Amino acid sequence: AKSTGRNTYQYYRASVGEGATDLFAMESSLRAAIEKNELEVMYQPQISLATGKITGTEALVRWHHPERGLVMPADFIPLAEETGLIVPLGEWVMRRACAQNAEWQKDGFAPMRVAVNLSARQLRIRTLAEKVAQILDETGLDPVWLELELTETMVMRGTNDVIGIMQQLKSLGVCFSIDDFGTGYSSLSYLKRFPINAIKIDRSFVQGVPHDFDDATISKAIIGLGHSLSLKVIAEGVENAEQLAFLREHQCCEAQGYYFSRPVSADALTALLRSNIAM
Ligand code: C2E
Ligand code: CA
Ligand code: CA
Ligand code: CA
Repeated sequence: AKSTGRNTYQYYRASVGEGATDLFAMESSLRAAIEKNELEVMYQPQISLATGKITGTEALVRWHHPERGLVMPADFIPLAEETGLIVPLGEWVMRRACAQNAEWQKDGFAPMRVAVNLSARQLRIRTLAEKVAQILDETGLDPVWLELELTETMVMRGTNDVIGIMQQLKSLGVCFSIDDFGTGYSSLSYLKRFPINAIKIDRSFVQGVPHDFDDATISKAIIGLGHSLSLKVIAEGVENAEQLAFLREHQCCEAQGYYFSRPVSADALTALLRSNIAM
C-alpha cells in the first residue's frame, strides 16, 4: 500500500473485504503498536478569533505502521472501537497529550487546553474518572487544562450511567466539548442536562460558508445557540480566509483548520508556540 492517508484507506477497505485473516493481522499489529512505539500524537492548534493566538490544541493520533506507512485514524479507530482496543489506545493518547501539555507549561509557555477525543466505549467504563484522575496525577497536568471531546450521539445514547461518569469527570475539573456539533441527534436538551463547555461546529457546515445559504444559516444558528447558553463555540475545518472572515463577523470564539495549521508533531507545535505570532 502507498503511504498516503487516502491510499491506505482504500487499501484497508479492500483488504477487510477479503476476509477475516487480514483483519486479525491488523488487530494484532494494532495491539502491539502501543508497545512498539508506533503511535504518535499530533497536535492541531485552536486559535482565538479575537487575538489570533493559540488557546489550545486537539490531540489526534497517527499510526506509523512498519510496512504500511502512515495510517490515519479513520483506518484504525473503527477497528479499535470494535475490538475494544480503543480503551488502552485512548488511555495512551490521553497520557501522552497530558504529559506533553504539562511539559509545554513547564517550559514556560502560557497554559493552554489540550482536547482529547473520547470514544463511546471509553465513556461506558465505570472507572473512567478514576483513570483520568490517575493520568492527570501522573503527568502533573492541572485538570482545568484537559478538555474531553464527545459526540452528540455518544451523549444521547448514554443513559444515566453516562451522566454519572460525566459528573464525576466534571468534578475532577476537566471540561467537555461536543464534537461534530449539528450532525448527530437533533435534541438540544442535553446541552443543559450535561456539563458541557463548548460546541464544535462540524467541518461539513464550515466548508460551505459564506456562500452556501444553508451552511451559513446553520453556522450562525450554532454560534447564536452557543452565546445564549454560554457555551464556547469552536469552528472546525477552517480552510480559507473567507470562512474565517465569516466566523469572525458572527463572533465565533475559536477556530481550527488547515488555514492555520494541520495537525503537527509536538516539536512542530513547540516551534509554533515559540514564534508566538498571531495566526
Ligand atoms: P475529529 O475529532 O472530528 O478531528 C478532526 C479531523 O479533521 C482530523 O482528522 C483533522 O486532521 C481534520 N481536519 C482538521 N482541520 C481540517 C481542515 O481544515 N480540513 C480538513 N479537510 N480536515 C481537517 P484526523 O486526524 O484524520 O482524525 C479523524 C477522526 O479520527 C477524528 O475526527 C476523530 O473522530 C478520530 N480520532 C483521531 N484521534 C483520535 C483519538 O485519539 N481517539 C479517538 N477516540 N478518536 C480519534
Ligand atoms: Ca475531535
Ligand atoms: Ca470534529
Ligand atoms: Ca469527526
